[in-house]
Amino acid sequence: METLADRLTEVEGRIEAACQAAGRAREEVTLLAVTKVFPAQVLLDAYAAGLREFGENYVQEFEGKAPQLGPLPGARFHLIGHLQSNKSRKAGELFQVIQTVDSAKLARRLSEMEKPLEVMIEVKLSEEDSKHGCAPEDLPALVDAIHELPHLTLTGLMTMPPWSENVELSRPYFRRLRELAQQFGLPGLSMGMSHDLEVAIQEGSTMVRVGTALFGRRKKV
Ligand SMILES: *Cc1c(COP(=O)(O)O)cnc(C)c1O
Repeated sequence: METLADRLTEVEGRIEAACQAAGRAREEVTLLAVTKVFPAQVLLDAYAAGLREFGENYVQEFEGKAPQLGPLPGARFHLIGHLQSNKSRKAGELFQVIQTVDSAKLARRLSEMEKPLEVMIEVKLSEEDSKHGCAPEDLPALVDAIHELPHLTLTGLMTMPPWSENVELSRPYFRRLRELAQQFGLPGLSMGMSHDLEVAIQEGSTMVRVGTALFGRRKKV
């Protein structure tokens, strides 16, 4: 059986190789460990293995796990799943980073908590109905709105291309996200997952969100 340590070594090797091939420094890319659906113990194991940035999709699920974690110095928790406004308060309490801000209304609700929060805008670049996110044409207004809110720091953009076996099909989405981030002077690019992280790093990703390659297959929710 492959252990978490084995898988982490493998993922680290892939990130390292992709950075090298792209002429980028390894420190430019953060590995976000996506622990959705896995029990709290998996987060604790990942922390013990050296991981510090964690991604979760569901506010309610993480609310159940968080009390079991205890203090984990240096750990940061990112919400990477869609956030409904009625869960924004809870999300603001549980997470340090909200990567899925997609409306000014949601941003205002988060800022109203008066807690310093790092946020990213989820951009919807594909036509799939199931995908949330801000349409590219609505980005200028949303970026302006967030910049005016006192408690939010906008650090970048995130996106999720339609899933495909063929990782090259992710490339145009990643490239588009990088161009948009450049346009708005935003440094952070949360893009790339287990299967397409190499392509994402070639296209400038600063954060790859990796679940399956670290923790194995998830049960369906
Ligand atoms: C589940 C999820 C991931 C991780 O996907 P893997 O293919 O398991 O690496 C990354 N980003 C988002 C937004 C997710 O929902």
